[in-house]
Amino acid sequence: MKNIDQYDLRGKRCLIRVDFNVPLDSNFTITDDTRIRAALPTIKKVLASGGSVILMSHLGRPKDGPVDKYSLRHILPDLETKLSQKVKFADDCIGVQANEMSSSLKPGEVLLLENLRFYKEEEKGDENFAKKLALLGDVYINDAFGTAHRAHASTSIIVRFFPGASLFGYLMQDEVMSLEKVVKHADKPFTAVLGGAKVSGKIEIINNLLDKVDNLIIGGGMAYTFAKALGGTIGDSLVEDDLIETALEAMKKAKANGVKLLIPVDTVIAAEFNNDSPKKVCKTGEIPDGFMGLDIGDETIKLFSETIKNSKTILWNGPMGVFEFDNFAHGTIAIAHAISDATALGAFSLVGGGDSVAAVNKYNLADKVSYVSTGGGAMLEYIEGKDLPGVSAILAT
Ligand code: AMP
Repeated sequence: MKNIDQYDLRGKRCLIRVDFNVPLDSNFTITDDTRIRAALPTIKKVLASGGSVILMSHLGRPKDGPVDKYSLRHILPDLETKLSQKVKFADDCIGVQANEMSSSLKPGEVLLLENLRFYKEEEKGDENFAKKLALLGDVYINDAFGTAHRAHASTSIIVRFFPGASLFGYLMQDEVMSLEKVVKHADKPFTAVLGGAKVSGKIEIINNLLDKVDNLIIGGGMAYTFAKALGGTIGDSLVEDDLIETALEAMKKAKANGVKLLIPVDTVIAAEFNNDSPKKVCKTGEIPDGFMGLDIGDETIKLFSETIKNSKTILWNGPMGVFEFDNFAHGTIAIAHAISDATALGAFSLVGGGDSVAAVNKYNLADKVSYVSTGGGAMLEYIEGKDLPGVSAILAT
């Protein structure tokens, strides 16, 4: 991959597409700074190499031009603290002021541009808008894995204006290499663990993974559609009746491909969807009316954990139950521990998707797995087998 270590950045104005789309509370305090922290190694490397840095990002989903709520100015104090230096700010991401500020930047200085999505042209992938952005830098660096699945002006179209000078940042490189390791070069046995609420968002992932994995573990709410497809009764558990046929096809494909598809054998059930609803355990295909499955049971934890611990590559996306309720988080915690144990034994483990990342963070296991992906949507599209325009644009130059 063409990364920033392979380019002389001295004296260069480096235009870096970062993903600073962080959550802010009503006082504009950043509630999760993971994405900003993830971009720091690339920014610091450019500065240490004698280049200057121009940062561009989107924040939120502004509908109609500039609004204070989505101004990147709100993240300026945090960025200055993290970089231990002053960061300049341009009120508009293109135009005279941005051009002047960028051309007068000295090596070691940092400029942050206002929200790219204040222009509709950004998401439309407008070439003229990309050209105006391109005026701001001598080198283009993409470190925004979170938007790599979008062919936006600043993520892929802009590459046309930097022939021979488009590079991957460290975050982007780490993300893509981790994904490639899992999806293209997995050491066997390869186990994918999928959970979460619905089958519907994960059909293509299941299909693609069935051509690659040795074991496919399905937990969480999505497992009940599979249990029902097998003829079980699932009470009031989450189910997508229109996907029963799809679940049957997945099980058929698993059999044909020699993939072991595991669904929960026992389930923790409750009458109501809340943390304090009294819980019981029953077989997954024998959930009585008036009860719903909210977590995997101990037998299942044992079964899933054994498979995970015997694996050399593990991909995890989606919780095993309603882990937001402490009383139904046991299965998700146990699986997170099994993945960290397997990693300690030498497996490569990749965790991605909002809820699984939240889970490993909550249980302090983030540094006990091999890689935690910062990009939910981009990661899922890659696993579905789709092209990521933010990656392919640079690879094609
Ligand atoms: P997803 O966005 O599809 O990955 O789903 C994540 C959500 O699935 C989390 O908020 C979990 O609470 C929820 N979930 C997991 N297991 C269950 C279940 N058995 N019943 C209802 N919701 C569940």
